Amino acid sequence: MKELLKSIIPSLTVKEADRFEIYYQMLIDWNSRINLTAITEKEDVAKKHFLDSLSALPLLSENASLIDIGTGAGFPGIPLLIMRPDLKVTLVDSLQKRIVFLKEVLQALDLSASCVHSRAEDIGRNPSYRGTFDYSVSRAVAPLPVLVELTIPLIKTGGKSICYKGNAAEELDSAKSALHLLHASAVCKEIPSDYGVRSLVICTKYAPTPSLYPRKAGTPSKNPL
Ligand code: SAM
Repeated sequence: MKELLKSIIPSLTVKEADRFEIYYQMLIDWNSRINLTAITEKEDVAKKHFLDSLSALPLLSENASLIDIGTGAGFPGIPLLIMRPDLKVTLVDSLQKRIVFLKEVLQALDLSASCVHSRAEDIGRNPSYRGTFDYSVSRAVAPLPVLVELTIPLIKTGGKSICYKGNAAEELDSAKSALHLLHASAVCKEIPSDYGVRSLVICTKYAPTPSLYPRKAGTPSKNPL
């Protein structure tokens, strides 16, 4: 994994490469016991998990706070933290087993992040988290109209919710009314890739989220805005 990643990202330091190697080994090892990912082949993990996770890097300012909603096995939050240990990262997932994995990975990588076992709808109403993050990131969690209800309440006014998507044009269209209700606007940025169409939908919050949102757990996906 180290050599492979170094050939894709020539600027990778020894420490960063070592951390990706450990992360890969733990992902494969734990995946035999708990379901973490269907992608296990080295080159696929390097590109479709690690490299893909890093596509938001140029958007993130120094020392910013970032919450990864529905992080699963740590994507995109952990690769971003490996490359940018200055970030104050919070990893959230509704599955406890994945939180156990994430804590072990962070310890093995000697990196610190906060790991929270919660549904996005619940943490989004918790005053300790609501409206406190510079960025949210999310990949493969929900269709865009649902995802913005889960993420926008958590970011500050002026903050950005970065949604990792495939071809986002259609989804962006279907999220227009949700974005309006949540007081956010969005632009789409295509990501060059040799593993399929990839894009980032970058939503900017222009005013505080109405207290109605997020609605109770399960409602955003059952009845999208
Ligand atoms: N983001 C990771 C990735 O790109 O590989 C994981 C994607 S996985 C398909 C979706 C993850 O989102 C799962 O780990 C699931 O438990 C979590 N999830 C789904 N809905 C959620 C919610 N409402 N709140 C918190 N986590 C959620």
